[in-house]
Amino acid sequence: MSMGAIFTTANPLYSTEELQCQIQDSNPVLVFTTHELKSKFDGIILKNRVLLVEEFMYNLLVSSSNTPTSIPINIKLDDVAALMYSSGTTGKSKAVVCSHRNLVSMGGLLRHVWNTEGGGDDGSNDVYMCVVPLFHMFGLSMMVCGVLAARSTAVIVTKYSVEEMLSGIERYKVTRLPVAPPVVVQMVRLQNKMNKYNLKSLKEVICSGAPLGNDHIERFCKIYPQINLTQCYGLTETNGPITLCDGRSRTTTRAITASVGRLIPSMEAKIIHVKTGKPLPPFCSGELCVRGVPVTQGYFKNAEATLLAIDKDGWLHTGDLCFIDKFGFVHIVDRIKELIKYKAYQVAPAELEEILSGHPEIIDAAVTSYPDEEAGEIPMAYVVRNKKRKIEGEDIMAFMANKVAPYKKIRKVVFVECIPRSPSGKILRKNLKALTKISPKL
Ligand code: AMP
Repeated sequence: MSMGAIFTTANPLYSTEELQCQIQDSNPVLVFTTHELKSKFDGIILKNRVLLVEEFMYNLLVSSSNTPTSIPINIKLDDVAALMYSSGTTGKSKAVVCSHRNLVSMGGLLRHVWNTEGGGDDGSNDVYMCVVPLFHMFGLSMMVCGVLAARSTAVIVTKYSVEEMLSGIERYKVTRLPVAPPVVVQMVRLQNKMNKYNLKSLKEVICSGAPLGNDHIERFCKIYPQINLTQCYGLTETNGPITLCDGRSRTTTRAITASVGRLIPSMEAKIIHVKTGKPLPPFCSGELCVRGVPVTQGYFKNAEATLLAIDKDGWLHTGDLCFIDKFGFVHIVDRIKELIKYKAYQVAPAELEEILSGHPEIIDAAVTSYPDEEAGEIPMAYVVRNKKRKIEGEDIMAFMANKVAPYKKIRKVVFVECIPRSPSGKILRKNLKALTKISPKL
């Protein structure tokens, strides 16, 4: 980034086909990977070569004495710094443009927020443990923007397991732990296991990426009264968290427990009527729209998707159904957009629907979320099958498991007579749930 290069990140669980899609879209000149994952790039045509991170770092260390410490660069704040993938409110995954201004502002804001609200000192004594993936915006914003901007220390865990996390907290005296909701759920469930470790250093758990139930918040606060549980809300399109609710705000009223908190400085928000687009007063639910420096300029070379997401006045339409109470706390009620969040990972229904419709025995298909205690939501498929054949749910799940990363797997299949569609062919997702009388709630 400091050399003016643009980077994009990919999930290490991606299949070669999924990587190929991202490579075709972002057109990288160089790929960094590890020994373990290198074979995934066999057969993918690349503009340039694949570098192994291990070798690259070694060479960098060896040659560092000869390398000039500062390279003359000419980066403007609105230049592109990164392309982070998100499906936005509809369709398949697309590249969100993250400018240097977006990332620098997020770094500054996170530093400010954690300085003033998170414990007072300048952050340089803090040790963050990174169990959230760095390829996701939450991991990137916390670790790169937050940690670097505050000159804190980061402990990186290569593969998450609860034991690895707990022993790491004890060993490195971790003070702040950004996580996705399933980790909080695990910390509540496994409280006996947790007691075996010395977690005295841990002062804050920062949870974001997907909804965290009230029940789990309350149980966490009871079991770990010494740990401040901060809930954040943000999107890839906002370059990180834009609201924040920490433990002290939470103690005021029970209503606040359910909130994702107040806006961080520099952000504006409004709630609009889902159909008319008219602004709504406090306590009325509608679509949350946000505006501010950390918000993306749009999707990379995709004017159509950009126009759909950001209106002419610069408001990003989040696709989340929310209300704001009289204290300025944002409450998330539901999700209007198609997106499914499996353990806070993004799953785009459109991508799975395209693969399903390529199966010779499937006539039509639609994918939506189904509630699950551990994962939050699981992808579920409504399928119209060819009646002459005998394809079963298990066959469809096995077919999909071969094609996509594990977190995108279809975990439930329902057979239906037809998929409800609008005259233009758009899937009427609300009508789907009525078909089988399954009414998933977030
Ligand atoms: P992503 O771009 O992967 O970060 O996904 C953004 C979406 O995740 C948001 O639009 C919300 O639907 C959801 N999300 C993120 N944080 C929270 C939260 N704290 N509570 C509820 N939903 C959340």
